[in-house]
Amino acid sequence: MQTYDVIVVGSGNAALCAAIAALEKGAKVLVIEKAGPEEFGGNSRYTAGAMRFAYEDGEELKPFLSHVDAEKLAKTDFGAYPRSKFFQDLEGFNEGHPLTEQQKMLVDQSFETVRWLAGHNIQFEPIYTRQAYEKNGRYVFWGGLTLAIEGEGEGMVQAERTEVVRLGGEIRYHCEAEALLTEEGKVIGVRCKSEGEKQEFRASAVVLACGGFEANAELRKEYIGPNWDQAKVRGTRHNMGAGLRMAKEIGAATFGSFQGCHAVPMDLHMPNYGNTEIPFIERKNYRKICYFLGIMLNARGERFVDEGENFRNYTYAQFGKAILEQPKGFAWQIFDKKVEHLLYGEYRFWDASFVEANTSEELVEQLDGVDKEQALKTIQEYNQAVDEGIPFDPTILDGKRTQGLRLNKTNWANRLDKPPFKAYPVCCGITFTYGGLKVNEKAAVVHKNGQPVKGLFACGELVGGVFFNGYPGGSGLTSGAVFGRQAGYSAADFSKQ
Ligand SMILES: Cc1cc2nc3c(=O)[nH]c(=O)nc-3n(C[C@H](O)[C@H](O)[C@H](O)COP(=O)(O)OP(=O)(O)OC[C@H]3O[C@@H](n4cnc5c(N)ncnc54)[C@H](O)[C@@H]3O)c2cc1C
Repeated sequence: MQTYDVIVVGSGNAALCAAIAALEKGAKVLVIEKAGPEEFGGNSRYTAGAMRFAYEDGEELKPFLSHVDAEKLAKTDFGAYPRSKFFQDLEGFNEGHPLTEQQKMLVDQSFETVRWLAGHNIQFEPIYTRQAYEKNGRYVFWGGLTLAIEGEGEGMVQAERTEVVRLGGEIRYHCEAEALLTEEGKVIGVRCKSEGEKQEFRASAVVLACGGFEANAELRKEYIGPNWDQAKVRGTRHNMGAGLRMAKEIGAATFGSFQGCHAVPMDLHMPNYGNTEIPFIERKNYRKICYFLGIMLNARGERFVDEGENFRNYTYAQFGKAILEQPKGFAWQIFDKKVEHLLYGEYRFWDASFVEANTSEELVEQLDGVDKEQALKTIQEYNQAVDEGIPFDPTILDGKRTQGLRLNKTNWANRLDKPPFKAYPVCCGITFTYGGLKVNEKAAVVHKNGQPVKGLFACGELVGGVFFNGYPGGSGLTSGAVFGRQAGYSAADFSKQ
């Protein structure tokens, strides 16, 4: 049997951060990954690499940027995203509950963790395409999310893996953790299935970083709700809840919102899972999150959310759920020519599903599955309710709204009056689950008896109590990196005891 100081289960962002941190402390580290090398990196690989973190001044970001266009940078306003605002954003989704220790850890360590990543050869770039608008000759960032890792999720996991290997870590693919090995209440290793054979690996400490249960239709139904087996899976098919199960089997406490998950409007005709076989950039193009520039109609032909309730990165992770809850679980997003240039590239994806017409009457005739009479009425009533006295400005909550509707649109409400009109059919795509394990400030997994489970640490999607009823975009990777780094340090320290 082979022995290590630290075994890390999974090879996504959280796992690789844990491995880097443990290696930094001189530990002998093994990373085990259920998928093959062509699919390593879990959900992290599908991401845009966007990371939300607190900063006081745009100047603080500049040291993280490696390949800068100096001229463009000089015309960029990153604004500020102080810790208080990050706290407020999280608390806004807590349904009245105070911030958890895990949320405080996420915010307090976010900037330092990004700096740590930059120090490990992870390079960042400003997200000009989706988080900034040009205004008076300047690039103005909005919504507190400014930087992404270069090369997006693909670039991130490749760079992190390179760093793990550079520091001497070992990675085994096609190696699925099935159970934790314990002795006298302490975790001493992992039993795995590797290429059809059972294998055991021993270590002084184990870090679970093998994702949530979003790819497991049965668990989704059990925890989130009856219709959730119908959701499409945006990312990896491998996050089946194994980490949660293995830890629960040895008495670990669970924590957080098991009904909560991150779910996004996606092309109705997207494949059932994310697929690493299609080119990287295309994987993300099934996402359809520009609803704030238009309206969404359900099968009854009615609007069902305030599409302009807040900046897109505070609503998109909740609106997938809102769509799933509609009759037959789908909706249509409708836009006119005026906003076409503002739609993200995903709306021009060669495989995007859409219909197009020169009048609203002709458009609604093409909306499959929708009450056409009501759809037309909704569009007409919406148009009449738009307050044309307020200027449209996507860089701020512009207050350009409708008045007098049963459900108003409270920002960015433009009339749908300039042909051609386009409508995109959307469904719910689940990204990841929020309920998970209880961990303490050392990222040690807590037992039901309130004590840390000796030798067991967790990070990433597996950590409960970070997100509840919503999600400020870009927080998942930061959470993975913050808890991953801490779990790696703690596991390495524990292995030396
Ligand atoms: C399409 C998409 C876009 C996203 N964009 C962003 C973004 O831009 N910014 C952001 O902050 N977040 C984003 N997210 C969310 C983000 O991906 C997650 O919050 C984060 O990546 C989770 O990291 P993780 O390491 O916990 O899990 P993962 O990256 O999913 O890694 C888990 C790993 O564990 C492996 N595994 C599972 N079971 C086992 C087992 N039994 N044994 C061994 N290995 C196992 C899996 O194969 C996988 O490799 C996005 C997610 C998706 C799907």
